[in-house]
Amino acid sequence: MKRYSAFAIAREAMRHHTGWERAWKSPEPKKEYDVVIIGAGGHGLATAFYLGKNFGITNVAVIEKGWLGGGNTGRNTTIIRSNYLQDESAAIFEKARSLYETMSKDLNYNVMFSPRGVIMLAQTESEIRGYKRTAHANNLQGVATQYIDAQKVKELCPIIELSGPRYPVLGGLWQPRGGTARHDAVAWGYARACSDMGMDIIQQCEVTGITRKNGKVTGVETAKGYIKTKKLGIVVAGNSGHLADMAGFRLPVESVALQAMVSEPIKPCMDVVIMANTVHGYLSQSDKGEMVIGGGTDVFNNYTQRGSFHHIEETVRALVQTFPMLSRLKMLRQWGGIVDMTGDRSAIISKTPLGNCFINCGWGTGGFKTIPGSGWAMAELMADGEPRALAAPFTLDRFKEGRFIDESVAAGVAH
Ligand SMILES: Cc1cc2nc3c(=O)[nH]c(=O)nc-3n(C[C@H](O)[C@H](O)[C@H](O)COP(=O)(O)OP(=O)(O)OC[C@H]3O[C@@H](n4cnc5c(N)ncnc54)[C@H](O)[C@@H]3O)c2cc1C
Repeated sequence: MKRYSAFAIAREAMRHHTGWERAWKSPEPKKEYDVVIIGAGGHGLATAFYLGKNFGITNVAVIEKGWLGGGNTGRNTTIIRSNYLQDESAAIFEKARSLYETMSKDLNYNVMFSPRGVIMLAQTESEIRGYKRTAHANNLQGVATQYIDAQKVKELCPIIELSGPRYPVLGGLWQPRGGTARHDAVAWGYARACSDMGMDIIQQCEVTGITRKNGKVTGVETAKGYIKTKKLGIVVAGNSGHLADMAGFRLPVESVALQAMVSEPIKPCMDVVIMANTVHGYLSQSDKGEMVIGGGTDVFNNYTQRGSFHHIEETVRALVQTFPMLSRLKMLRQWGGIVDMTGDRSAIISKTPLGNCFINCGWGTGGFKTIPGSGWAMAELMADGEPRALAAPFTLDRFKEGRFIDESVAAGVAH
C-alpha cells in the first residue's frame, strides 16, 4: 500500500486525486482462517493489528455486521485519559494513552490525537478527597496527574463559572496529556493497516451462530456463509451477551444506551476537556467548533442506538450552571450507542469456557481511550492462549472469585 505523506498529497493534487488507492480491500470471506475476530470496532481492529504487528499472525478475518467503526467506536465523545484509580486499570489505560501519542505515525494515518488536557471538576468535599487520592495513586503508578485549585481551573478554562451556587467549582483533577482523537480515523487507520498486512475485513456480514466441538469453537455461521477458524475473538461491546449466548456461556454484562450530542459550531472558546461528574455531564470543543456534550447512561437496559429528548434536557440542565454560555446554544445532533457494563465497571479480556475462544468486552462508557492498549493485550492473549501482565487481572473468573477491580468512581461516569 502506498504511504500517505505530504509528497503524496502534492502528487495527487497534480493529477486531480485520481491515483489514491482504496484504504482497505473488501474481500469475500475465505473458507478458513487462523483467527476470526467478530466486531470491527476499534477494539476488534486493534486486536487484529497487534496480532499481525507483534506476533506475525496475519491469516485473520475481522467480521462486522454493519460498517467498520459504526458501533460505539464511531459514536463516542473521544475523551482519552488514564487517571483511573486501581493499579490494574492505570497500567492498561496508560499503555493505551501512550500508544495514542505515536498512533498517527505507527499507522501512517492522521488520527488527530490532541493531548489538550482533561479536567475532572471537584464540586463537593468528597470529590476533593477522591481526586486528591487519585492524584496520589496516579503519581505512584507513573501517570502524570495533579490536583489543582479552582483558580487554576478558571485559568485553563475561562468560560467556566466557578461560583455555583448549587455546585461551586472547588478544584479539579488535571491530566495535561489527556485529550481527544478523531474516532473514525482510529478505526480507519487500524483497518487500513490490517488490510495492508493481508487480513480480510468483511463488512455487512453478521455472525448468526458459533459452532463447537469437544469444548472448542470450530467456526462461525455468517450472512456470507460458514467460516472455519482455529481461534475466535469476540469483541462486540453492547452485543457481547448475544454472542456469548451463541457460544454457550453467560457474561456478567448489561447493555445500556449511552447518548451524546453536539451544539451548533461556534468560535474556539475552550481548549481543554471538562468533566463534571457530580452533576454528570462533560464537554469539549471539536475541531469544527461544535461543543461535544455527553451525560449519563439510560437508567434501564436497552439496545437503542438513538437519542431522546429527556437526555438533552437532563444533560444541559446539569451543565448550564457551570457553563452558562450553553443556554444560548442550539443543539445540532444527538445519537446513542449500546455500552456493555460490568458490575465493577472494569473490562473483561479473558479466556472463556471454550478453549480457543477469547472475549474482550465490558469497556462500558469509557473504552475509546483504551482501544490500542486493549488490542495489544487481547492480541497477547489470543497469540499465547494465556494472558500476559496487562490482561491478567481482567479475567472472567474475577467475578466468581471476588477479585473486583472497582472503578465505579473513575469509570462509573460516562466517558
Ligand atoms: C455516546 C457515547 C460516548 C462515549 N464517550 C466515550 C469517551 O468520551 N471516551 C471513551 O473512552 N469511551 C467513550 N465511549 C465508549 C466507547 O465508545 C466504547 O467503549 C468503545 O468504542 C467500544 O469499542 P468496541 O470496539 O469494543 O465496540 P464497537 O465499536 O461497538 O464495535 C463492536 C462491533 O461489533 C459489531 N457486531 C455486533 N454484533 C455482531 C455480530 N453478530 N456479527 C458481526 N459483528 C457484530 C458491531 O456492529 C460493532 O461494529 C462512549 C460511548 C458512547 C455510546
